[in-house]
Amino acid sequence: MKYFESKAIHQQAGKKNDLHSKTTPIYQTSAFSFQDLDDLESFFTDEERYMYTRYGNPNTDQLAKMVASLEEAPEGVATSSGMSAILAGVLAVVKPGDHMLIPEDVYGGTYDLFHQFLTDWNVTVNTAPFNERGAIEAAITDETTLIYTETETNPLLRVEDLKEVIAVAKNHNIAVMVDNTFATPYFVQPMTLGADLVVHSATKYIGGHSDVTVGVLVGTSLWMEKAKKRVIQLGMNVSPFEAWLTVRGLKTLAVRMKQQSDNAASVATYLREQEGVKVYYPMNLSDKGNGAMVSFDLGAGYDIETFFKELQWIKIVPTLAGVETTVSYPLKTSHRSIPKPLQEKLGITEGLVRMSVGLEHSEEVREALQIALSIAKK
Ligand SMILES: *Cc1c(COP(=O)(O)O)cnc(C)c1O
Repeated sequence: MKYFESKAIHQQAGKKNDLHSKTTPIYQTSAFSFQDLDDLESFFTDEERYMYTRYGNPNTDQLAKMVASLEEAPEGVATSSGMSAILAGVLAVVKPGDHMLIPEDVYGGTYDLFHQFLTDWNVTVNTAPFNERGAIEAAITDETTLIYTETETNPLLRVEDLKEVIAVAKNHNIAVMVDNTFATPYFVQPMTLGADLVVHSATKYIGGHSDVTVGVLVGTSLWMEKAKKRVIQLGMNVSPFEAWLTVRGLKTLAVRMKQQSDNAASVATYLREQEGVKVYYPMNLSDKGNGAMVSFDLGAGYDIETFFKELQWIKIVPTLAGVETTVSYPLKTSHRSIPKPLQEKLGITEGLVRMSVGLEHSEEVREALQIALSIAKK
């Protein structure tokens, strides 16, 4: 199939579905049995045979194949979380002694993984302001083997110039890995721009219903062969049931993203009209829309505690991407442990709110915001 919307629905989990069920059943099993030794041997030659769920399972494979297909990648693997997918990808590329380069405003969990774990394994990790021309080039060393970045950053929604980053990396023969969690392949497909590996916290938009913790890594065959080995060796596999739930969510990715981004655009327009509110909503994510995340800084004109208290039905939830509209407070959650000067440099202020716009009617969201803003106004 050719179109994104169609491909998201029609990916099957292998052909050996003897009962012809319409959807893929849940293969909630730790292992698979064999008739005789010839049959056992067939596992090693037939791609559609399975042996042990940590090595592979129809449900986890279906999820990996779906995301790979939507990302235009030859291969993928599903893992237990976004973090394990990131680790599998990084460990496929870097070895002790290597150097890797990341932007300053990378996701907090990723920042910690790189600075508190990889450095213990003798990998040097440097940050650079990726939005400044020449900063990446200047930070590359002879040991640099990986440049890691995100399509859209958290929480200020800076859109990475992926073409530029990939061009610099290719010049130096360095691999590029992109976290595409916020943008999703509906808006941006980093592989088509030349990325080597693309990673998702499928906990977010890929699953879309806030009921699973799961990750997916896709990429070129060269790196995926290594990454898949890491997933097996380190036991980073996701459970069949969680993969199945994620597949169910993924089928509606296109309609969700289209509607949620239309709603977000309308919320961003409303917020821009409010006095003293600074809105961070990208204008240049893709020609299909600009995503469903809206961040805004209430500045000094509103009382932030009152604002959160008066948000009606909109809950404070430190995640994103569900069908419900939610808000989070970066200063006290995701960016809590970052030193104050860096918080200030990154724009993580007391008035900063991150909103994940859901599937409710956007008028409903605007009304809730209007009430909270009018009560919180100083
Ligand atoms: C949530 C998130 C992660 C981590 O994913 P988990 O599923 O929580 O392990 C990584 N990157 C980004 C951009 C995220 O939003």
